[in-house]
Amino acid sequence: MAKIGFVGLGQMGSAMCPHLIKNGHHVTVYDVSQEAVAALEKQGAKGAKSAKEAAQGCEVIFAILPIGSIVEKVVFGPDGIADGMSGNAIFVDMSTILPDETRQIGKRLVDRGFSMVDAPVGRTSAHAVNGKSTFMVGGKKQDIDRVVPFLECMGEAITYCGELGSGSVVKLVNNYISAVSNLVTAEGLALGLKSGVSQDVMVEVISKTPAGLGHITTAWPEKALCDNPLPAFMLDLARKDIGLALTAGASSKVPLSTGSVAREVYNIASAAGRGEEDWTTGIYRTLKNLSKISE
Ligand code: NAD
Repeated sequence: MAKIGFVGLGQMGSAMCPHLIKNGHHVTVYDVSQEAVAALEKQGAKGAKSAKEAAQGCEVIFAILPIGSIVEKVVFGPDGIADGMSGNAIFVDMSTILPDETRQIGKRLVDRGFSMVDAPVGRTSAHAVNGKSTFMVGGKKQDIDRVVPFLECMGEAITYCGELGSGSVVKLVNNYISAVSNLVTAEGLALGLKSGVSQDVMVEVISKTPAGLGHITTAWPEKALCDNPLPAFMLDLARKDIGLALTAGASSKVPLSTGSVAREVYNIASAAGRGEEDWTTGIYRTLKNLSKISE
């Protein structure tokens, strides 16, 4: 069984770390919170007094910390993980941080003769408790192969995303889509409630459409994802419908800020001659053009 270091025992770390212990690994843990360390000691971990101590003698050191500057400090600061690493140890960062921060930390570790994998975590702490996390993994294939058996103890789906930093890219794309969809969902339901329709009725209807089921698995596969402009639903009709909602929102005084921005982008797409394209393909092509991504 492997000797593993684990730093960051908050909502996520305290839920994930016990799965490594249950699988028989020897886990040394560190967190600035002594209570968090003590709680893991009760579950079979060995407590450390510093991140350096948690990393000493370990083949893999996991961290799951709030932000990039803290990860950087915990790895390279005084008594940091890098000072404790030895041999061919790998640092695995599961925190949600900027891809550039991930790459910079990775480069500094490589300069010191170590390797790094980024493995940000999908789903919530409730999934982590049940070992149902997902991982978006970036790094060198040989490093990832060494780390996968440990990730499998903590989760059920591991997706290889590319070079170091790619896991962080996919994580931030996922969370961006999810967080903005969360707001537009709230805007739409608030508009319906203010207009006198029950929440249950809206949920019943929307749960069966792309708005509730998710675009990437419903409206996109046969259109935007294969660059097919033939309309299942024309972009100009979607543009008109955003306008209807904005008019209703203005008269009932419900702020629809996401929709206001969306209408401008639909206007740009329509002005570029994409009004009769499929709404998904037309919008995706517009964003790729604006971002200078070649089709
Ligand atoms: P948290 O705030 O609950 O835990 C962070 C832990 O880091 C705390 O225990 C804190 O004491 C510790 N810490 C802070 N500074 C430290 C230092 N210098 N040295 C050692 N330990 C230190 O956060 P969380 O919810 O566990 O999230 C951690 C990361 O995982 C974040 O990047 C978050 O975005 C990501 N994430 C969270 C969830 C979720 O559902 N909570 C889901 C997926 C990803």
